[in-house]
Amino acid sequence: MTLKTGDEYKDSVKSLKLEAHVMGKKSDNLPENPLVNPSMKAVAATFDGAHSDNEEIRGLFRTRSSVCEAEVNRFAHLHQSTEDLVKKVLMQRYCGNLTGCCFQRCVGLDAANAVFSTTYDVDQEYGTHYHQRFRDYWCKIQVDDLVVDGAMTDPKGDRSKRPGEQADPDLYLRVVEKKNDGVVVRGAKLHQTGMLNSHEIIVMPTLNMRPGEEDWTICFGVPTNARGIRYIYGRQASDTRKLEELKLDVGNPIYGGQEVMTVFDDVFVPKERIFLNGEVKYSGKLVERFAAYHRQSYGGCKAGVGDVLIGAVALIARMHGIDRASHVRDKIVEMIHLNETLFSCGIACSSMGYRTPAGNYEVDMLLANVCKLNVTRFPYEIARLATDVAGGLLGTLPSAKDLEDPVTAPYIKKYLATTEGVEVVDRFKVLRLIENLVAGAGSVAYLIESMHGAGSPMAQRIMISRQADLDGKIQKVKQLLNIN
Ligand SMILES: Cc1cc2nc3c(=O)[nH]c(=O)nc-3n(C[C@H](O)[C@H](O)[C@H](O)COP(=O)(O)OP(=O)(O)OC[C@H]3O[C@@H](n4cnc5c(N)ncnc54)[C@H](O)[C@@H]3O)c2cc1C
Repeated sequence: MTLKTGDEYKDSVKSLKLEAHVMGKKSDNLPENPLVNPSMKAVAATFDGAHSDNEEIRGLFRTRSSVCEAEVNRFAHLHQSTEDLVKKVLMQRYCGNLTGCCFQRCVGLDAANAVFSTTYDVDQEYGTHYHQRFRDYWCKIQVDDLVVDGAMTDPKGDRSKRPGEQADPDLYLRVVEKKNDGVVVRGAKLHQTGMLNSHEIIVMPTLNMRPGEEDWTICFGVPTNARGIRYIYGRQASDTRKLEELKLDVGNPIYGGQEVMTVFDDVFVPKERIFLNGEVKYSGKLVERFAAYHRQSYGGCKAGVGDVLIGAVALIARMHGIDRASHVRDKIVEMIHLNETLFSCGIACSSMGYRTPAGNYEVDMLLANVCKLNVTRFPYEIARLATDVAGGLLGTLPSAKDLEDPVTAPYIKKYLATTEGVEVVDRFKVLRLIENLVAGAGSVAYLIESMHGAGSPMAQRIMISRQADLDGKIQKVKQLLNIN
């Protein structure tokens, strides 16, 4: 079966019967849990895109598999050209526009493309058989149209120490037992985006490992309902508003994101699902490649969410009667400029992509890192400008309940009236959406993830300095000035 609809996807995740600890309670009906449900709807939108009435949109989501005979969702595609890489970014921007939040499906796609090329290289050097294993694994993912979580980030304990030097060696996920038919792993992965909405997990090492760190050099795929995996739900700012009866204060009325802490409590991984096991030389390459794809991703998704925020700011400016003020217009132009710069970087690193020896396409590493470094800054500046234009009510608006209360509602409607024809409830809606993105649940993905997702800013700076060919630039100057 290929190309599930959003509803078919939801049913398939329900059938996994995942359990998680959510705010101190064990929850075994996650799809119906009001904290989790909006995030599932956001993922479902990535399935519905493939069934859009609009042919152009459908064309973004549908493509042919390179590893099996099937039409597949681009969120499970191994990129076959620079056009594929560009279409990925366009699709992500579309999803950001539609949901106004993180739709959680890029991280598995980025992991798959990195594992695909890395397993090929490992096999070439060591005569191992990881690549064919991964092709078989990924073919099933594509044909069944599954959601895959990309799990890289270990807890890391004391950052100044290597995995083996930590007080607890499990602070980096590792192999604790080797068996004839597989391995047993122990550890945790933090901040896992959309894990509870996923069918599968690809686990990758988090570091460039060194000789002696073979046990921590492990990459594999497991189902999310594998025995020994435990989930602890991550809180987001203002998340309990989702539990309230009235939804107006949530800000984003339909969709939301999700992150969990995932514990691997001695999980067995069968041999055929292992894609790297002890080849330390290749862990750094896998991390670099995954990070580059994911840094490209942000050029699409963050720009897509940025469009929503800019639209909300332009609308509130109109509602407040300040839309013609030159400083407001200029601030909105600045927001657009920053947002389009993010998008441009996503498109640029895609257009400059190249074919790997394995056959899939990799993004331009330098430009992907420039893209992500901009992402660590520009959404913050866009959010600052949004806060400026939206006004103080962003932080002091009464509750949706007070807007319905017979005692307070008349006062609120009288004193929060604005330009003619604007309903106070609509003003609330727009302010709450902006609040959601700059300070509420949506800011986890729009701001905090922009800073740390796919690596904190220093990680991009290191890659930029490595990729920039500074010696080549010095040589150009010497040539120009005739310096020997
Ligand atoms: C919303 C969100 C979603 C995410 N989704 C995923 C996901 O789906 N999958 C996944 O695998 N990960 C995910 N991540 C994790 C993300 O990749 C990490 O947050 C990121 O790599 C930074 O790691 P950290 O959070 O441990 O911060 P740290 O590594 O602790 O970084 C904090 C600061 O410490 C500095 N620092 C760290 N180590 C050192 C050192 N050795 N020496 C000097 N300075 C150091 C950093 O440069 C940074 O300034 C997500 C994160 C967020 C916030």
